[in-house]
Amino acid sequence: KKLGIALVGLGYYAVNKILPGVDESPYWELKGIVTGTPSKIPALKEKYNLKDENILNYDNYANLANCPDIDVVYVCLPNGMHAEYSIKAANAGKHVITEKPMANTPQECEDMIKACKKNNVKLAVGYRCHFEPFNLELMRYGRENTFGKINYIQSMFGWTAGDPKMWRLNKELGGGGPLMDVGIYSINAARYTKGMEPRSVVAHFGPVTDKTRFSEVEESVSWHMEFPDDTVFTGFTTYNTNVEKFQAYGDKGWVEMGPAFSYGPIVGNTSKGKMDMEVVYHQTYQMNGMGAMFLSSDPIPDHCSGVEGLKDMKIISAIYESAEAGGKKIML
Ligand code: NAD
Repeated sequence: KKLGIALVGLGYYAVNKILPGVDESPYWELKGIVTGTPSKIPALKEKYNLKDENILNYDNYANLANCPDIDVVYVCLPNGMHAEYSIKAANAGKHVITEKPMANTPQECEDMIKACKKNNVKLAVGYRCHFEPFNLELMRYGRENTFGKINYIQSMFGWTAGDPKMWRLNKELGGGGPLMDVGIYSINAARYTKGMEPRSVVAHFGPVTDKTRFSEVEESVSWHMEFPDDTVFTGFTTYNTNVEKFQAYGDKGWVEMGPAFSYGPIVGNTSKGKMDMEVVYHQTYQMNGMGAMFLSSDPIPDHCSGVEGLKDMKIISAIYESAEAGGKKIML
């Protein structure tokens, strides 16, 4: 039997990226949708032969409890809505995948973990890089000390967020600015390359060059993290420039990826030569990996569970705390 999945929110990422991955993966079948926009229903209803009772909106969402065809819901809503719709799904007895960042605050992440535990359902976070060959190779380099002990990591990820009305520029819906949206990839990659948790952060907001777009969330932020083995990390994220590069330097060589985290093709070079990994459709690999996890009787492995989401969120929260205090060192 395939796992029945319902997409919660039919925005760009759900429809254009996750759904093709669901279609390609042998583990999943789209069985339901949750949308506040009725005009999005007919095309999907017809293509996937969806039953009326599996087509929900935000008001009758609790009816999920009466949808036996739906095993897992995938929350693809603005960040500030992840916690509410994940917790409600768990209370309706459904397993949950939520997009990154897991939620707006560590407290929300903890509430989500608690709700899933209480209802005995699984919780995963859409960390697609954890299924992507170049990033998996990066994890292996770190684990096997391919380039010796990594002493320095630098990672930049940003893009130009032009539309002043987008939810990503609204504090309540975005939870913050580029740090929440794409800076999280650099944090996550530093952690999976080192295989350890940073011990401290220091952060500074960049200048605000556009007061209309950046009245609620940061335009850019740079931050410094130290790891328990004295590895230094510097990161930068922005909504005013397209930038994407990850570099790690060890005492026996280096690795550099750019693009590193977006949909690809990812390009990687090392001091030993070009990274020769397969270029894949990330979301299919993610849905294959997650399919096996949801079918298994084991819990979701920590690396893409709520535990991982909470760890990143605690670091994000410390970065904001530091930047708001003008660069105060925060111990984690
Ligand atoms: P989007 O704006 O395209 O879609 C958001 C959806 O939420 C829309 O269908 C919108 O109608 C719906 N919505 C419901 N209530 C809303 C409200 N009050 N305000 C605004 N929209 C509301 O956004 P997206 O790019 O699809 O992002 C959705 C989630 O997916 C975010 O959490 C984002 O971080 C995540 N995402 C992840 C990746 C990835 O590579 N893993 C890539 C893009 C987005």
